Amino acid sequence: MTVYSLEPHALATAADPLELDTRAPRGTYALVFAVPETTIEVGALGDCEFDAGGYVYVGSAFGTGGLRRVLRHRRVASGDHDARHWHVDYLGGDSDVELTRVVCVPDQNVECAVSSTLGASALDGFGSSDCTCDAHLAAFENTETATSLAVATFESKV
Ligand SMILES: [Zn+2]
Repeated sequence: MTVYSLEPHALATAADPLELDTRAPRGTYALVFAVPETTIEVGALGDCEFDAGGYVYVGSAFGTGGLRRVLRHRRVASGDHDARHWHVDYLGGDSDVELTRVVCVPDQNVECAVSSTLGASALDGFGSSDCTCDAHLAAFENTETATSLAVATFESKV
């Protein structure tokens, strides 16, 4: 099973191996964000303090549209879409936060397995309203570390 680690801007272009411009594969994904030291209001979680670092959010997309949901996350992160539905919308939609990488694996539902192995909760309750995980968000020193650990954790679970 292939774990894809992709530049966000490559998605839905000719360089996208998932071909999200025309296809809607299902699967599990991780978003890597560069976050400065900041406070962000995260929906019902209220004002949340973030240390500077690389953050990994893990989600899955097995409904209509599948991994094309990642394109929506990218639009929110770029400011082109102001929806605030999921916790990750508040983080990614903050103007100081940058989406730096998308990691995903088609067909496999490893959302909670990856989340629970990746690292300690960065913010209890974030992204885990529908499961028993502490959170689906983990924090690392920088985005390079966050990306390499996300890829390694996916590879260990598929
Ligand atoms: Zn979970």
